[in-house]
Amino acid sequence: MIQFCKKCLYPSTHPLGIIFNANGVCSGCEIHEEKFTLDWQFRLNKLKKLTNKYRSKKNNYDCIVPVTGGTDSYFIVHVVKNILKLNPLLVHYNKYYNTNLSIENLSNLRIKFGCDIIIQNLNMNSIKKLTKYTLYKKGNIYWHCHAGNTSFAVQTSIKYKIPLIIWGSHQGIEQVGMFSHKDEVEMTNRYWIDHDLFNFSPEKIINDIDSEITEEDINSLFYPNFKEIMDCGTRGLYLGNYIPWDSKIQNELMIRKYNYKTQKNIRSFDNYQYFDCYNYLNIHDLLKFFKHGYSKVTDQVCREIRFKRISREQGISIIRHYEKKKISHIDLFMDWIGIKDFTSFMNLLDSFKNEIFWRKIDVKKYKRKVCSDYHKKNIKKHNIAFKNNPGKIVSSKKGYIFFGKGFI
Ligand SMILES: [Zn+2]
Repeated sequence: MIQFCKKCLYPSTHPLGIIFNANGVCSGCEIHEEKFTLDWQFRLNKLKKLTNKYRSKKNNYDCIVPVTGGTDSYFIVHVVKNILKLNPLLVHYNKYYNTNLSIENLSNLRIKFGCDIIIQNLNMNSIKKLTKYTLYKKGNIYWHCHAGNTSFAVQTSIKYKIPLIIWGSHQGIEQVGMFSHKDEVEMTNRYWIDHDLFNFSPEKIINDIDSEITEEDINSLFYPNFKEIMDCGTRGLYLGNYIPWDSKIQNELMIRKYNYKTQKNIRSFDNYQYFDCYNYLNIHDLLKFFKHGYSKVTDQVCREIRFKRISREQGISIIRHYEKKKISHIDLFMDWIGIKDFTSFMNLLDSFKNEIFWRKIDVKKYKRKVCSDYHKKNIKKHNIAFKNNPGKIVSSKKGYIFFGKGFI
């Protein structure tokens, strides 16, 4: 029997692991309350002291900040440059599913903040081979992105001898309250493998007898070894442990201050995140829905309920509205990865439907089980507003943008 939090809408089947207290409230909601009670000025001062030690004496970079073109990157760089007064080297892992707006936001980011950036473009043939493998094996087309985002930052830290990496919020804290903010947890190889990579490490992929992925294909996605980390002193801090993280308010500040561009999403009410990717709120989100019984909009709704900007009932109406929306850009992905038959591709996606949430009726038909609070009656309309600050229309042609590899 799936249990739902009495406050937000997370189920007991949350993939990061969630626990409920005697009142039926989840660990994520409990830890979220710390945002209203901790002494955040004290915590920010602590962060300033901590990061001050990493100021480069040779007029070099003080830290590394991994960035994308569409989530919390503007705010992270804003804090690093303007509040902590550090000189960051920005790093960006090219996920290859980029939209126009992703590129526009990234170039505006480095110009507005005056930062150097390194972009890693891995061999696209290897990435396609790897993505095909993770799709068929685990129903995951985002494995290489999760792997690359972290491994590239840590590798750059060692290569350039810049020990400090600064991240935004910690997903395990934000969603399920895996740790208290007071624990001040830092980046670890263990969390990366267990949660970001769903316990599917690069080593496991190479050693899988079904896999044709070679060490050469995946070499750039390895986490540096323990000795390299210790020799460099690499550590990754999360700003969310020192600043009461609220991505809606933060992104609205970024729109006003730095002209951060946004876009209305078809599958979410939140205009500020994930429009940098053709797949995140589409194929990737559909697979999340099939495997875990809920889609990205539930994560965003839970966040808004916890900040008391919508009620639980309004949250249910938002989820119901958006999780049924059709996914787009399947053609782009099939074309990119080299799959031709649409029906067999959709059957492949269907095969990842988890029997906890889906009942198989016959070979091709599934029915969603009525096991969730999302089916409740007496739904209230929501009234939460997200601004929109659209980017330039540079081309009417849709297609992934590959940076240096051009429009192929
Ligand atoms: Zn909750």
